[in-house]
Amino acid sequence: MIKRSFLGLVKPALQYNLVPDSVQEIPVPRKVVLLLKASANGGPHGTLKVGDSVKTGQRLCASPDSTEYVISSVTGTISAIAPYVGTLAEKYTAITIDAGGQDEWDDEFDKTPSLDTALKFFQFAPGNPCFKPFADPEKTIKTIVINGLDEDLLLTANQQAVQNEAAKIKDGIGVLKKITGVDRIFIAVPETLVQQASTTGAEVKTVNAVYPNSLPHMIMKDVFGQVVPAGDTLDDAGVSFIKAESVAMLGTAFKTGHLPVTKVLTVAGKNGSTMNVKARIGTPIKDVLRACNVSVNDRDRLVLGGPMRGVATYSEDLPLEPGTDGIVVQDEADSAQVTDYPCINCGECIRICPVKVPVNMLVRFLEARLYEDAAAMYDLHCCIECGLCSYVCVSRIPIFQYIKLGKYELSLIETAEAANE
Ligand code: SF4
Ligand code: SF4
Repeated sequence: MIKRSFLGLVKPALQYNLVPDSVQEIPVPRKVVLLLKASANGGPHGTLKVGDSVKTGQRLCASPDSTEYVISSVTGTISAIAPYVGTLAEKYTAITIDAGGQDEWDDEFDKTPSLDTALKFFQFAPGNPCFKPFADPEKTIKTIVINGLDEDLLLTANQQAVQNEAAKIKDGIGVLKKITGVDRIFIAVPETLVQQASTTGAEVKTVNAVYPNSLPHMIMKDVFGQVVPAGDTLDDAGVSFIKAESVAMLGTAFKTGHLPVTKVLTVAGKNGSTMNVKARIGTPIKDVLRACNVSVNDRDRLVLGGPMRGVATYSEDLPLEPGTDGIVVQDEADSAQVTDYPCINCGECIRICPVKVPVNMLVRFLEARLYEDAAAMYDLHCCIECGLCSYVCVSRIPIFQYIKLGKYELSLIETAEAANE
């Protein structure tokens, strides 16, 4: 595999939104849908049944020994349980809960901070914090970086947390230290949020607020001077990233004894306006859009996430997930349509790629489904998934989507090979 450095970095002039919007809380929906991942160790299950009553904050899993779970965001009754297939064929169970009035809080969550508690209750928390590497004997995490910038343009959930919830982040840092035993904690923020970040107790690092500098691999390179080798994870480098929103939520949860059941996200409408809203996890997208007075017509584009890295989706019935930082609606007339035009070797994608992947060659191999060659010869694993190549491609080739599909297909091949060894 070719391992390329970040030398020759080209800085695109795409600025993050720096002024966080205020947050409007939208009403509890009549029903929520929670997507429960298929458990690696679990098959069909019987713990959950239609008609079961659930409380707010209740941990729901397929079977007692299942590794996957969701946290109910409302008090109510399970009205449907159905299989659901995600964007890249991930298998889920969709649990629909009819909300029934006032919240009645489940009391299983123990407020004493510990790694076991974090693993048992915070996997489904806003921002998808991941504590598994801290429990993995093969990983040694010595540094935690709190990301105070969102990882896409337009989105401001994390900037909002730093600006308005620095005290909660400070509480969360105290919890993080107890849970993980890691004392070396940094917070990475744009220049405009240094003052608020400095009250959290973490060591402040400044990020130049130009896309894609907020992506963890870029922060590692620009702020810490460490290039993570292609194919390695940040955990392999001994660093764990966690979003500012997740840290604020940790602080609040261990203070109040209530698990987090809401998510802050940015909604960008067709006229380019943005607003930040807080909604119960599992709220159907259409309810979020209605509360923001954003309409979606046939052939408009609905994107979950931000404009550079988000995933276009086909239905407003999909639920808000813990990792959904934004919803972007683009008018049909303003949406750049992808094409099946061939690459014309203009080189724009290579010039803008922050890790200098030979994208023009890579995309040829991905289009031909030669995934192993794409990884071995054309740096598929070097890609940090910023989406800039798709953004500039004059032939409008959906390069970013090819890359995501390629990595997914390769992971299936590698899993199958490992199983056969
Ligand atoms: S998405 Fe494209 S531009 Fe971004 S790192 Fe990957 S190959 Fe480079
Ligand atoms: S920007 Fe598009 S057309 Fe130009 S070299 Fe890259 S893939 Fe080919």
